[in-house]
Amino acid sequence: MPLIDPFDRTIDYLRVSVTDRCNFRCVYCMPENGFPVAPSEELLTAEEIVRLVRIAVDCGITKVRLTGGEPLVRKDLVSIVAGVGSIPGIRDLSLTTNGFLLNDLAKPLADAGLTRVNISLDTLRHDRFRELARRGDLDRVLAGIEAAKAAGLNPIKINCVAMKGLNDDEAADFAEWTLREEIHFRFIEIMPIRWNLDETDGFDPLSVHQGSELLQLRQATNGTMLSDLQMRRMFVSAEELRASIEAVHGPMAPAELTTNGPARTYKLAGALGTIGFISQISKDLCEKCNRLRLTADGFIRPCLMSDGELDFRTPMRAGASDSDLAALLAHVVAHKPERHYLAEGQKVLGRGMSQIGG
Ligand code: SAM
Ligand code: SF4
Repeated sequence: MPLIDPFDRTIDYLRVSVTDRCNFRCVYCMPENGFPVAPSEELLTAEEIVRLVRIAVDCGITKVRLTGGEPLVRKDLVSIVAGVGSIPGIRDLSLTTNGFLLNDLAKPLADAGLTRVNISLDTLRHDRFRELARRGDLDRVLAGIEAAKAAGLNPIKINCVAMKGLNDDEAADFAEWTLREEIHFRFIEIMPIRWNLDETDGFDPLSVHQGSELLQLRQATNGTMLSDLQMRRMFVSAEELRASIEAVHGPMAPAELTTNGPARTYKLAGALGTIGFISQISKDLCEKCNRLRLTADGFIRPCLMSDGELDFRTPMRAGASDSDLAALLAHVVAHKPERHYLAEGQKVLGRGMSQIGG
């Protein structure tokens, strides 16, 4: 029986955060020293995750994506994948990762039942990588992408948060990759999730391609996340990215990628891969929203942009039955907001992206 919300949307997609920990500190997601993490006893165990996913699937969920924090830092991830992958009724089991640990884990994950993977990568330049992710290493992420291909995880999608002045000049370089390999890029708009509300100024993204952008970025963030004002200034539209790609590589034609969800997808002439744009801020994607999110500490959140969520961990640990939990899930779906209200000044303050499971 499908889960249908009050706005007639069928809810069939659950994003499951397996951890709030991360080995990177991306400037738009976390401060340099990270957010405080939940005590480990508050994180759902592998068995609890698999149980909640099974109940959700019994209620109508058919697509599951594992995320985080960084899911690959969770030691029992392979058994979570095996447990979730063995639930009858799941049509699509995928994972979002920063790719740093993928070289070693791609094959075990594929063997455990993972079918595809999205890798987040915001730059192809080593020096920028170090400043944007503040940890990790570009070559290891690239090796992780190769390992995912070798393990048969397909299609490989690369998610890139587009930021004016920081990486928007690389759009054509990313697009060039699709001419050589069957790889699918998606440019994502920067989103106001627990933005640093100090309206720190002193950073003009429009001037940063003049040689000292990385130093400027470091000074501007000074160990914090990018501020609200900085991120708003970094907004770059799909049209701008598309124009800069087409200026170098010629026109793109609309393309289909069945697993591409809300992305508008295009292809360069002769390309093996595709280029997508996910405009969750500027375009209204809410109308077609089909998702719920399970946080690593056991709350289900019906809208990424809204702080409302319901605790499933406490009742589960107090002995709630499967049907009790299914009733709670129906309650969450019944309260899924119609849309986000960012244009009206809504702020997402309760959790950061790494704590929700982006
Ligand atoms: N650590 C994994 C990763 O980076 O792929 C999974 C979790 S991360 C929170 C999921 C996605 O959220 C990543 O693609 C990341 O780029 C994106 N993200 C994080 N903060 C964001 C923001 N403020 N705006 C847009 N995307 C963001
Ligand atoms: Fe970690 Fe992913 Fe957030 Fe980067 S975007 S800090 S990799 S959770």
